[in-house]
Amino acid sequence: MPFSQMPTRDTDSLSLWHPYTQMQDMPAPLEVVGGTGARMTLAGGETLLDATCSWWCMIHGYGHPRLVAAIQQQAAELCHVMLGGIRHRPAKELADALVRVTPEGLNHVFFSDSGSVGMEVAMKMAVQYQQQRKDRDDTRGRPRMLSLMKAYHGDTAGCMAVCDPEEGMHSLFADFLPRHHFAPAPTAGFSASREEVADDISALRACLETHQHEIAALLMEPLLQAAGGLNMYSPYYLEAARELCDEFGIVLIFDEVATGFGRTGKMFACEHANVSPDIMVLSKGLTGGYLGHAATLAQSHIFHAFDGEDANSAFMHGPTFMGNPLACRVALESLAVFEEENYLGKIAELNQLLRDTLLNFSHPAIRDIRVLGATAVIEVHDASSLAGAQAHARELGVWLRPFGRWLYTMPAYITSPQDLRQITHAMTSYFETLEH
Ligand SMILES: *Cc1c(COP(=O)(O)O)cnc(C)c1O
Repeated sequence: MPFSQMPTRDTDSLSLWHPYTQMQDMPAPLEVVGGTGARMTLAGGETLLDATCSWWCMIHGYGHPRLVAAIQQQAAELCHVMLGGIRHRPAKELADALVRVTPEGLNHVFFSDSGSVGMEVAMKMAVQYQQQRKDRDDTRGRPRMLSLMKAYHGDTAGCMAVCDPEEGMHSLFADFLPRHHFAPAPTAGFSASREEVADDISALRACLETHQHEIAALLMEPLLQAAGGLNMYSPYYLEAARELCDEFGIVLIFDEVATGFGRTGKMFACEHANVSPDIMVLSKGLTGGYLGHAATLAQSHIFHAFDGEDANSAFMHGPTFMGNPLACRVALESLAVFEEENYLGKIAELNQLLRDTLLNFSHPAIRDIRVLGATAVIEVHDASSLAGAQAHARELGVWLRPFGRWLYTMPAYITSPQDLRQITHAMTSYFETLEH
């Protein structure tokens, strides 16, 4: 059935409140009953190729037998137990595995239930670290973060306050939120030369020089500012961020919630620059998308600043579901599949195909086309020109969910070349339906 002819909702359907959606005129939502590989199965049996892998987390696609089995086995053993004073194998093994796969120095893992909470944890850690660190005392009482324009770090209050303040989604809450500082969004692209990145770096330095005595941490989504508009930027910027943070005694936090687990072509985006942050946050791909969970990793100098006689110098945070055994077990299985089945090789192939099918495309409505790892975006001049894109893709059997001026794909890594072509065809052929 074409999208435009889907039945309209009865009032009963209003019990379920959908995100980021004007409920009054929301088209009838798709009824998904299952999924296999890169495809979701709709009620009625039709399948739809998911170009977004469910907000970028279902990196193995749907119904992966090993991930499903891991959850089932764990469910039979232990579904949940608190982490206060108790440990269990899945949590300990996942902490060890994350220490192994993440960049040098990130030796301590704090679990929580979602990407936003993982970021809240990172920010609290940084503020308390600055109060308690023993190597310098000019960093006490630094209550602010330095974030970047175009940043997105989550929807909880603490996270909203470090998202781009001018962007529509959170500006309503301006008076409710604490005030932080923002450096300009980096402008030099992924392949820019060192000289081309110099202006971005001077702008960052200028912000740090002005506000250093207030700033606990600098935070950024390394290389790919995702929900803020898929801005792709240079590894040299990350290098410079590391150097500047060391110079000014500021904690460097990398939010790898979207970029972690291969999205930019390396396991973690910061590997493109050979830089380790002081704190790193992982979520989305962590469990292969099968359950909500997050990990905040810290270097040892951060961790040991919480040592002390005083109970109040401990880290005062503890989500009920942190280290949930089901989530940890499926995350371990996800990582095993990722490594055993050479996902980085698959991602490189997806990258090549995205480049081949998209980078030479052009249309007057299009402002820019960018590809990084298994991520591609067509940015248009005016959001209104994407109005019909989702319905167009739907008719071609593809699920796209453009936002603002960005029509993008972040496919599951198991997407076949043929399926990826179907996705990029759905993206480009849409523009051919527009009047010039
Ligand atoms: C999705 C996202 C978050 C928030 O994660 P949730 O699990 O939705 O709370 C934070 N940071 C980045 C970079 C994200 O893409």
